[in-house]
Amino acid sequence: MTSRKGAAKARQRAAFEAGAGDLGDLFAREERRRAEASAAREAALRLRACESKNRYASLADAEEAIASCAAYGTRGLHAYRCPHCNGWHLTSKPARP
Ligand SMILES: [Zn+2]
Repeated sequence: MTSRKGAAKARQRAAFEAGAGDLGDLFAREERRRAEASAAREAALRLRACESKNRYASLADAEEAIASCAAYGTRGLHAYRCPHCNGWHLTSKPARP
């Protein structure tokens, strides 16, 4: 009977250690969750600022597009160099000072 009791104790200890292991891993998991959330935010920003927009290879191309937009009545567009793809996009937001 003592061996069964011992086995039960060993099971209990294993369960405790597994639980403690999860707890110790909590910070790593939280860190990972935060990194994933911030990567998702970054991807959403990139989608809005870059991937969902027309891309122009040069400022001259972008300005040509601005001119043709103006001809169709869309004014106030600015070209900006994209930090994500290194191309040029158009925005209707005022240029930053
Ligand atoms: Zn871009």
